[in-house]
Amino acid sequence: MEWVQRQHGRLSYRLTQVLTDHGCFRAFLCFIGREESPRCHHCDAEEDTAQHTLATCPAWAKERDVLIAVVGRNLSLGAVVTCMVGSEEAWQAMRSFCETVISQKEAAEREREASADAPMIRRRRAGRRRRQYGLLHMPLLSSPRTTDSRGSVGR
Ligand SMILES: [Zn+2]
Repeated sequence: MEWVQRQHGRLSYRLTQVLTDHGCFRAFLCFIGREESPRCHHCDAEEDTAQHTLATCPAWAKERDVLIAVVGRNLSLGAVVTCMVGSEEAWQAMRSFCETVISQKEAAEREREASADAPMIRRRRAGRRRRQYGLLHMPLLSSPRTTDSRGSVGR
């Protein structure tokens, strides 16, 4: 895939989480059995996904402004990836957004897991469900030609 093979920019762990929608997003955690609900912990949105974190969650407005200054207002994953592939500055901006925001989400997640009333369902084996989730939620990876259905690439 084009964006994986870029000369500039490495895929950090947290950047990869956002690009693949596999990571510290409640919709994903819920899907693999680690959370009871896909609702966002940081606002009242019904589903916390990578796209929600990137483009709409009000908790990350400050970090988002920094990103928008570089990549523009279209924050669909497809549009951002296009920017990243074409510009090292955009790559770095996206990478630092992901590092800052996901590390805060991970810290909040750890706090919740440490609290006494955390649900006891998080050890459930999740390999098969994770793969199914990938097929449902990873248009960028599983079928690059159909990304237009989720928001076309462009400015
Ligand atoms: Zn939110």
